[in-house]
Amino acid sequence: MAEQHDEHTHEHQEPAAPARVIGEEPDLTKGTARPITVVGNPVLHRECKTVTEFDADLAALIDDMFVSMYAAEGVGLAANQIGVDAKVFVYDCPDDDNVRHIGHVVNPVIEELPVGRRALDDGNEGCLSVPTAYAELARPAYAAVTGQDKDGNPVRVEGTGFFARCLQHETDHLNGYLYIDRLSKRARKDALRQMAEGTPRYATVPNE
Ligand SMILES: [Zn+2]
Repeated sequence: MAEQHDEHTHEHQEPAAPARVIGEEPDLTKGTARPITVVGNPVLHRECKTVTEFDADLAALIDDMFVSMYAAEGVGLAANQIGVDAKVFVYDCPDDDNVRHIGHVVNPVIEELPVGRRALDDGNEGCLSVPTAYAELARPAYAAVTGQDKDGNPVRVEGTGFFARCLQHETDHLNGYLYIDRLSKRARKDALRQMAEGTPRYATVPNE
């Protein structure tokens, strides 16, 4: 997912220091930035493969994903966004209480929400695979994801606000959906127009 976008000022605002950090900062010396796939690339529009090997290749993929996400100034990245057909995402994303969440999830599944937690949050959403476009999209204000870590251990990650949005957005990617697939026809068209008019600030994979 792209970083939060302020519609009112196009100035870059320095985010406040996080109140708390949940997770560990990755070692960025291990990975390599890879170019980002964009809407229209088939790898983004089909369900990714379930990960079954929890080996050094998976750890190396996660290292590359973190470096690629930071290079593109994203707050979340799914493996198919660097062209890899595998159910993995990484994140470094604030929630609405200014808690910074850092981590990865392998084979994520969104939990069904308890009845009391289905309130929607209207928010602005963007995606590194739809560069320079943003759109309003209502999503549940709370999300929980279960899956595994890089060693195959079960994990559960939950979040509110912008981080809840990120968990849903990244899991959607691995199931073959972009956020623009959840927009009205008109809003989707507008997002694609914004993308056509803009220039990404990071390397992308050209579509054939
Ligand atoms: Zn995205």
